[in-house]
Amino acid sequence: MTSNSQAQEQAQHQPLAQAQAAYDAFRARGLKLNMQRGQPSDADFDLSSGLMSALGEGDLSMDGLDLRNYPGGVAGLPSARRLFAAYLDVKPENVVVWNNASLELQAFVLTFALLHGARHNSGPWVHQHPKMIVTTPGYDRHFLLLQTLGFELVTVDMQPDGPDVDAVERLVAADASIKGMLFVPTYSNPGGETISAAKAARLAGLKAAAPDFTILADDAYRAHHLGESDETVNFVALARDAGFPDRAFVFASTSKITFAGAGLGFVASSEDNVKWLSKYLNAQSIGPNKVEQARHVKFLESYPGGIEGLMRDHAALIGPKFSAVDEVLRAELGEGGEYAMWTNPRGGYFSSLDTAHPVASRVVQLAEEAGVSLTPAGATYPGGKDPHNRNIRLAPTRPPRSEVHTPKQAVAACIRLATEEHLATQAETTGAVASQ
Ligand code: PLP
Repeated sequence: MTSNSQAQEQAQHQPLAQAQAAYDAFRARGLKLNMQRGQPSDADFDLSSGLMSALGEGDLSMDGLDLRNYPGGVAGLPSARRLFAAYLDVKPENVVVWNNASLELQAFVLTFALLHGARHNSGPWVHQHPKMIVTTPGYDRHFLLLQTLGFELVTVDMQPDGPDVDAVERLVAADASIKGMLFVPTYSNPGGETISAAKAARLAGLKAAAPDFTILADDAYRAHHLGESDETVNFVALARDAGFPDRAFVFASTSKITFAGAGLGFVASSEDNVKWLSKYLNAQSIGPNKVEQARHVKFLESYPGGIEGLMRDHAALIGPKFSAVDEVLRAELGEGGEYAMWTNPRGGYFSSLDTAHPVASRVVQLAEEAGVSLTPAGATYPGGKDPHNRNIRLAPTRPPRSEVHTPKQAVAACIRLATEEHLATQAETTGAVASQ
C-alpha cells in the first residue's frame, strides 16, 4: 500500500476510531442505568404520598356505601365515576371505574367481544379471524395483549398528527374481519404524537365493512402535558355525533398520576356499552376495590388544583428531563439527521428516536454492554421486529434529573459508533465489489 492510500484509509477510519474511543470511555465508567420502561420517578411518587393517609380509621363509607362490604355494583363508586368522568370529559353514566390497570380493562373488553360479540352483534369475534389495527411505532404491551388473545395485527403508521387515517379508511372499508383499532390518542407511546381533531372525527365516522368496528383509545397520557397542552379529543362524543354511539371505548388510569399499577383503571363508552361491559364484569366479580377508589377520590379532590394541579407538579419534574434529552442529543448528534432523528414530545412519557441507518439493535446492544439498559430494539413493532431496524424508544422519566444526561450521552456515543461501524462495513463492501 502506498503512503498515499494508507493516509486515505486512516482518514476514512478516523470517525470510526473516534466513535470507538468515545464509546470505550463510557464503557470504562461501569455505568448501571436502566432506561427501559416508562416509570415515574420517586419524586413523582412523592407527590402522591398523601394517598397513604387519605383514609382514616373512621372513613368507612362513601356515597352511602360501606367501603368494607360487597354492595356497590361493578361500575365503581359514584364519586369515583364522577371524578374520572370529568377527567375523560364524559358523564358519570358513561364510565366504569375498575381496579389497578387500564390494560386489564382493555383485555376485558377485547375478551368479552371475542367470546360474546360487541354490542352491534355480528357474533363472537373469535370465530371471525379477527384483526386489529395498531399504530407503529407503538406500545409493545398492546401488541402482546392483542397477539395473546389471537388477533392478527394490521399496522398503520403513526404520523405527527395521529394515525395514518387514509390507510385506516382504506383497510377497514375492504375487510370485515378488521374489528377495530387500538392506539394511544394523546402523547402516544413512544413518539408523543397527539391525534388532531380532524383525524379523530374521521375515525369516529369512518365507513367500516365490520358493523361492530370498535375504536379502543388508550388515553393513558391524556393529562400528561409537559408545557402548553395539546387539544385532547373525546371519542365517546365524536362517535355518538357521527351516528356510531357504541363505536368507541376510551381507557385511562391513575398509573402515571398517582402510583404506577397501584391505583385505578377506568373506561368510558356509551351507556349501552357500559351496560354490556358491566354484565360481563358482574359475572366475574362482585365489584372493584371501593377502598382504593375512595382513597383516590379523597386524595385527588383535596390536592391543590385537583388532578390538573397534580399534573402540573408532575410536569415540573418531568419536563426538564425531556428538555435534557433533546439538548444532549442535539449537542452529541447534531440536528441534521446524519445519525438520528427523534421526537421532542409536548407530553407523555416517551420520545421516539430513529437512527439514520439500520443500526437500532446494535445501538441497544452497545448500550447494554456499556451498562445502559434501553427498551429492546424492535419492541415498538409487533413481534419485536422493526422492519427498518431504526426505532428506539427513549424513556427518561424514571431517573432523577441529575442522572438524565449521562445515559443519553452514552446512548449518543452508541449511536455514533454503530453508525460508523455500519458506514465502514458498507465502504469495505463497496470497495471489495469495486476491486473484483
Ligand atoms: N397504556 C399505555 C400507552 C402505557 O404507556 C402504559 C404504561 O406505560 C399503560 C397503558 C399501562 O397502564 P396501566 O398501568 O393502567 O395498565
